[in-house]
Amino acid sequence: MTAVNDKTPGSDTPLPVLDNEDQSNQSTLAGNYFVSNYPPFSQWNPGHRDTAIARFDEPGDVDRPLGLYVHIPFCRKRCHFCYFRVYTDKNSDDIRQYLDAVIDELAALANKPQIAGRKLKFIYFGGGTPSYLSDQQLTYLFEGLQRSLPWDWADEVAFECEPGTLNAKKLQRIHDLGITRLSLGIENFNDDILALNNRAHRSKQVYGAYEWARDAGFPQINIDLIAGMLGETEDNWKANIETTLKLAPDAVTIYQMEIPYNTTIYKQMKETGAVEAPVADWETKRRWVSEAFAALEAEGYTVGSAYTAVRDKSTIGFVYRDELWAGADMLACGVSSFGHIGGVHYQNQADIVPYVSAVSSGESPIFRALPITEEEAMIRQWVLQLKLGHISRRPFIDRFGVDPFERWADILSDYQTQGLLSIDGDELTLTRDALLQVDRLLHAFFLPQHRGIRYA
Ligand code: SF4
Repeated sequence: MTAVNDKTPGSDTPLPVLDNEDQSNQSTLAGNYFVSNYPPFSQWNPGHRDTAIARFDEPGDVDRPLGLYVHIPFCRKRCHFCYFRVYTDKNSDDIRQYLDAVIDELAALANKPQIAGRKLKFIYFGGGTPSYLSDQQLTYLFEGLQRSLPWDWADEVAFECEPGTLNAKKLQRIHDLGITRLSLGIENFNDDILALNNRAHRSKQVYGAYEWARDAGFPQINIDLIAGMLGETEDNWKANIETTLKLAPDAVTIYQMEIPYNTTIYKQMKETGAVEAPVADWETKRRWVSEAFAALEAEGYTVGSAYTAVRDKSTIGFVYRDELWAGADMLACGVSSFGHIGGVHYQNQADIVPYVSAVSSGESPIFRALPITEEEAMIRQWVLQLKLGHISRRPFIDRFGVDPFERWADILSDYQTQGLLSIDGDELTLTRDALLQVDRLLHAFFLPQHRGIRYA
C-alpha cells in the first residue's frame, strides 16, 4: 500500500455518486476523499489514448525532472479497505511473465524521443506489495529495468513493503539493490485490528521487519499507519502512537481511512444497505492524526505535509512526492499505473491480462489519458502543493505568469476568515486544523466543470 494518497484508485463502477465535498465533518461515507491528482481521474478517457502515445514520439523537456513508477500488483491477501489493482492468486510463472512485460514496457519507452537524453531523478516501487517478490525476482526486475534506464544517480529509490513478506536476507538484498527509502505498510500494531481488516501481517512480523531493516542500513525508513481502521478505539490509537515513538522511524505517514467504492468494506455496506461506513467519523480521524502529530512533534519530528512527519527535516525528504507535486514527468510502468509525460496524464490497462498482452505484442499498454492545459497544470500544482501546508506564490508567477493570491483572492479571503490559513508576503500557511482536512478544501480551486463530479 502506498504512502502518499497519489496512486491508482480502483476502477469498479460505484453507486451512488457522492463527491468529496460531501465528506466534510461527520460520518465516513463511501467514495474517494483524497485528492491525488488533477483534473480528476474520472475525466481521463480512452479517446485521448493516441495523444499520450504520440507525445512519447515528441522531444521531451530535458530540464523537467523525470521519475519512474513501477507497479507490483501482488499481495498475500486483499485488505478490506484496499482500492488498488492487486492479485492474490498468481504463481511464479505468472509473476515472471508480468516482470518481463514491465521490463519490456520500459525498454520500449526508454528509446522514445520524449525520454532520450533524460535521467531518472526518482524511482518508486509501489503496489500491491513490491516486497512480495522473492530476492531472485527483485534482482531480475531491477537488472532488467536498469538495462534500459540506469538510475545510479537518482536522488531517491523508494520501495513499499508488507512486513510479513520480509526477512533479514531479503531486506539486505533490497538494500543492496539501492533502495534509499523503505516504506513499511504497518497500518496498525494491534493483531485483532489487523485481522479484522484482513491485513496479512501481524505485529510480531512488524517488529522483526523493523529491526532487520535498521540492521540493513537503509538511509530512510518510513512507516505507514491508518487512523480509523475497522475496530480502531481511542485506547488502541494511543498505543499505536506510543509504539511508533518507541520505534523512532525516520518518517511516519498517517492516512485517514477513506472507503472508495471498490473496497470490500463498501461491498459489505451495499449488501446491508448501509450508507455510513463502519469506521470512525472524519472529526475523530482528524483528531487522531492531530494527536499523533503533536506527540511526534514533542519528540522533535517535523510535520511536512497533511500526512507525514519526519524525524530530521534536514536529512529526510520525500523526492517522489515533492517532484510529483511540483509538476515532474513520471513514466508509469505496470498494470493500472498512472503517469504524466509532456503535459499528458495517462493510465495503463487496468487488468493484468490486457496489460501483458499489449506489451507482448509490441503495443502500448496505455488505456486512457488526458492532455492538460497550462491552466489545469497550474491548478494541479497549486492543490497538490497546498497539501504540504505551506506554499509560495512566486513559483506560480514565474512558471505560469499567474499570481494565485489574485486569482483565488475570494476563496483565500473566505478561508482566512474561517481561520484556515494565513498569508505573509509571498507565503501562505495553512493552520494545523486546515492541513488535516486539506483535501476537502481543495475543490474550491478546481475549474467549475470539475467541481461536484465523481473524482475517480
Ligand atoms: S497490502 Fe492490502 S492495502 Fe496494500 S495493496 Fe495489498 S491488499 Fe491493498
